[in-house]
Amino acid sequence: MTANAARHGEVNLLFVDAAQVVTCAGPARARRGAEMRDAGIHREVAVAVVGDRIAAVGPVSELDRALPGATRVDCGGRVLMPGLVDSHTHAIFGRPRSDEQEQRAAGADYLAIAAKGGGIHASVRDLRARSEEELTTLARTRLLRLASYGTTTVEVKSGYGLTVEDELKTLRVIARLAQELPLRLVPTWLGAHEIPLEHRATAQGRAAYVDLLIHEMLPRVAAERLAVFADVFCEPGVFTVDETRTILTAARAAGLALKLHADELTPGGGAELAAELGATSADHLATISPAGVAALARAPTVATLLPGTMLFLGKSGHAPARALLDAGAAVALATDFNPGTSPTPNLPLILTLGVSQLRLSVAEAVVAATVNGAAALGLAGETGQIAPGFSADLALFDIEDVRELPYWYGDRRCRATWARGKACHQFDLPVP
Ligand SMILES: [Zn+2]
Repeated sequence: MTANAARHGEVNLLFVDAAQVVTCAGPARARRGAEMRDAGIHREVAVAVVGDRIAAVGPVSELDRALPGATRVDCGGRVLMPGLVDSHTHAIFGRPRSDEQEQRAAGADYLAIAAKGGGIHASVRDLRARSEEELTTLARTRLLRLASYGTTTVEVKSGYGLTVEDELKTLRVIARLAQELPLRLVPTWLGAHEIPLEHRATAQGRAAYVDLLIHEMLPRVAAERLAVFADVFCEPGVFTVDETRTILTAARAAGLALKLHADELTPGGGAELAAELGATSADHLATISPAGVAALARAPTVATLLPGTMLFLGKSGHAPARALLDAGAAVALATDFNPGTSPTPNLPLILTLGVSQLRLSVAEAVVAATVNGAAALGLAGETGQIAPGFSADLALFDIEDVRELPYWYGDRRCRATWARGKACHQFDLPVP
């Protein structure tokens, strides 16, 4: 880096005295299989930020010379990492569904609760009754909670509206908050989250809803540029593999990239479909078949695993993370933050589950929530690494060794985050 990298009028930061800088530096794409074993742990290095970009990583004396007058950020012997990337959330919703937790404890399963008008349908009724303003207020607080655990990039889905206007309302909330908050938000249209009750009532209703998705909702979402991704809940009883293929093919033609909720409850061929369509990610995968594992190992598609959902639902089965990695697939971890099945904003807790339940190493879990989370959002060239040219998205954790991040489980060890070089979240740490 040369001194003239410090361009006029930009705030330059020099992060010094970190116990470890975990860079995750490497190719700007998803890491696959054995590539995930190296998180790039460095000691005695500093990180220089010029404006919204990481300019250099190296010895402090060198960076001091290259960036005279930069504001020093004292990391105080803590661990500096790329800001975490939460690549799967349903963060726009109304009331929490705390009542369903007891019903589940008493034996009711997900589909039984949904059949009684609970589950997603309860959130749909609730969201439809709320204004864009009200939803914005609720989502703002919740997204800041996610940020407080070290997350700087969040994918946010619609999917509790299920009418043209209510889905657009949801996506507009995401657009507003993307403008307002320092966090990077990535919007996903999930009009195909469920068949709404009014369409379930008649025999032709299902087909009519798929029709409405493709011919009325999708054109509006695309025309107003309200989403980067389209997603479908591909599951027996929700959307079939054929319906999913039809919806996602139309979405791709409209310019959206693709995601799938696949093989969450039963192995229905969702992972294979994601690979066939070249989807950016296939998410959940708790019941993925061996053929699905093989398909994802060959495809560019990131396997996004959501172990918090299984934990919260009290299920013992987890996605076969080791089989996916051994086959050479790219694995990401995310919260699935949502009011019904995973109401946690805590991505480091999901890293704990990644290690304890999915048997990932700490490095694999860290890469899964940084580089591979970014890849699951088509952002592998933008965020998820501390390397020159990447967005200055950083998280400082109150630990001395990165292995403590999944170790102190449930604890909030995040001290501060920066997104695009600007302070995003801070806990009583005097930082610029
Ligand atoms: Zn989901």
